[in-house]
Amino acid sequence: MKFYSNRDKKNLYTLRDAAFMGLAPDGGLFMPEQIPSVEMSKIISLAKNSFIDMAVYVMEKFMGDSLDEERIGEALQKAIPFEIPLRKIGYSRHGRPLYTMELFHGPTCAFKDVGAGCMGQILRALQQDKRERLIILTATSGDTGSAVARGFYDIPGIDVVVLFPKGKVSPLQECQMTTLGKNIHAIKVNGTFDDCQRMVKEIFNNRELRKKVNVTSANSINLLRWLPQSLYYFYGYWQWLNAEYPGDVNAGTLPQVTIAVPSGNYGNISAGMLAKKMGLPIKRFIAASNANDIIPQYLKSGIYSPRPSVQTIANAMDVGNPSNYERILDLYGNSYDAICKDTSGYSCSDGQIRAGILELYKEYGYTSCPHSAVGYNAVKDYMERTQERDVIWLSTAHPAKFTEVIEPVTGEKAEIPQRLSDLLSKKGEFAELEPDSKILEKFLTDL
Ligand SMILES: *Cc1c(COP(=O)(O)O)cnc(C)c1O
Repeated sequence: MKFYSNRDKKNLYTLRDAAFMGLAPDGGLFMPEQIPSVEMSKIISLAKNSFIDMAVYVMEKFMGDSLDEERIGEALQKAIPFEIPLRKIGYSRHGRPLYTMELFHGPTCAFKDVGAGCMGQILRALQQDKRERLIILTATSGDTGSAVARGFYDIPGIDVVVLFPKGKVSPLQECQMTTLGKNIHAIKVNGTFDDCQRMVKEIFNNRELRKKVNVTSANSINLLRWLPQSLYYFYGYWQWLNAEYPGDVNAGTLPQVTIAVPSGNYGNISAGMLAKKMGLPIKRFIAASNANDIIPQYLKSGIYSPRPSVQTIANAMDVGNPSNYERILDLYGNSYDAICKDTSGYSCSDGQIRAGILELYKEYGYTSCPHSAVGYNAVKDYMERTQERDVIWLSTAHPAKFTEVIEPVTGEKAEIPQRLSDLLSKKGEFAELEPDSKILEKFLTDL
């Protein structure tokens, strides 16, 4: 399969080129030349064996020209060695089952582990000349950097340079980036997140330097982060089907489920839309946002008006101009009506997020991160409006990463998983640089 840029469908790119470029030369996002279809009977029988068997079947449709099944399987196995469970936490007031799919059991406890891990392993598999060295350069305000660092950890031939603003990331996030070592190089920048982003941009625009060093980004719009995010929709559906409609597994028609996705850059939800286009029986998506409700507003009015983001307690979703909006448009042939047919919007305030966290804790004994609580709120609202019962929400981060938000609400200390608490006792290593891309340039050439 080849890939095009959503801004110019005439030029086609190989998977390898699209992956190494990240963004298309015209600034567009890469999309698959056509959307392959899956056989649901196959998905169901493969998922019964293992997540990986099912995942290889789906990814092979996009990557089969470039990598054989065995290589895809190896890469996915290394990238996703953790569970992606669908959890039933109880029943709503009207007796409807409440399910959430927990995407946060990876190494950094966030759903971004899936995409970042797959990108690391698949990029390595695509490197034709194994002696070739590649630098992944990324700026982070916290979460993305740690997932990318972990996803590329110890991959031969690839160095990761991650920039973060001094004093602006949590101690845990800092540990996640600075205690890995080996091929992960953390840089503490004496400036803001915007300085970090500007420095990275200046490096990418520096043609002279890019002739000397092979540098690319691991941005969330990269095809290799995006495509694998469709996998857990298939797997979650299969788990839900077994739990709710076990008798229908062999039937000709399969029940449909609606999925609420806590969203910021809309990479996650647009990967779900891809899964639906491939044939997964999803009824609707609920685009669940915090106060940054650009997409829910768009769904209401048909007008897309990006604006500066506002800070919320679900801060990984504080995005004012979601980059995957263009991907959604492309998936739906630029039709606003087609998007609305498949998608509802929902947004809530910080106060409502806290209320959601408290309700989950008090009614169901379930501790939720603030982002996931947006998903819960969206499901509750949707169930009440539509009387539907077949709805699930995605949980995108482990609550232990947001104790400063959760503890004051529940009055209870969230339990920190060992893989995170172990990090806090380790000594981090990092370089400290002034916010000047000339200095970063020297760092990269000396690496
Ligand atoms: C990144 C992130 C999101 C938003 O995902 P998008 O794909 O950008 O919409 C939601 N929750 C958490 C915890 C995240 O880290």
